[in-house]
Amino acid sequence: MRLKNGEVLLRWPLALHVITAGFFYNDGSAHNAIDLRTNQGGDTKKPVYAAEEGTVDQTQTWDGHTTTGMQSYGTMLRLRHADYAGSTLQTRYAHLSELCVSYGQQVQEGDLIGYTGTTGNVDGAHLHFEVIWNGTRRNPLVWLDGDFITASDHVYTYGVGEHAVEIAAEIPPEDITDVTDQTSSIELAAGKLQAIVLAPLTADQASACDAIARRLSLGTDRYATLTVDAAHVAKAICVTNGDALAFYSWAKETGLGDKYNSRYVGR
Ligand SMILES: [Zn+2]
Repeated sequence: MRLKNGEVLLRWPLALHVITAGFFYNDGSAHNAIDLRTNQGGDTKKPVYAAEEGTVDQTQTWDGHTTTGMQSYGTMLRLRHADYAGSTLQTRYAHLSELCVSYGQQVQEGDLIGYTGTTGNVDGAHLHFEVIWNGTRRNPLVWLDGDFITASDHVYTYGVGEHAVEIAAEIPPEDITDVTDQTSSIELAAGKLQAIVLAPLTADQASACDAIARRLSLGTDRYATLTVDAAHVAKAICVTNGDALAFYSWAKETGLGDKYNSRYVGR
């Protein structure tokens, strides 16, 4: 997404925003990418989404054993986006189990482009995500919003002067007056997961809630439905702060604020 100020805000390529390795590894050596956790146990094959609209300009299928050179990426694809500030902008997605697009194909932001896996030079399943601008690999966190957590305190996030893409200017002030309390608590508690229970909901309310979960690409490990009684269900949700705001805003706008319960969990 191109912001009004001309900056690029990339979409998170996975539903889960947990960084296991930053632009530098914990020992200070260059990684030039971020690694994203694909799951917190269980199935590690997760959908990978295009970070912005573009064209598939590189694909590779892993040969099954080589873990050096380009094959260290495993099964991989790269997208070329519209130029940014006059220079080429690309994103790369590596260690995939499966490609869902082919060379030369056009994709929209958020399109399913592949599935995570363990191909190439990996110790375990994760998504290796690169942002390449003007031919040089850049810190991806500078091109994403701040809606993430790190797997430990040692994970590198931003260098001096670096920060997440500022998106506040994109939201008209009248749209955020209702959620002033929530946005300030989000700033205070940046980088945490929230557990949310929305209950009791009617069938219509539940399907509106489901639509938000689909838009956020939440899997069954992040979003669950429980039965309350014959006419009502409860929704159990575990998401990062930014995604929690989507549910909170909806609940407030539709008069369901008293059905929204949440607390910060985990790190
Ligand atoms: Zn990596």
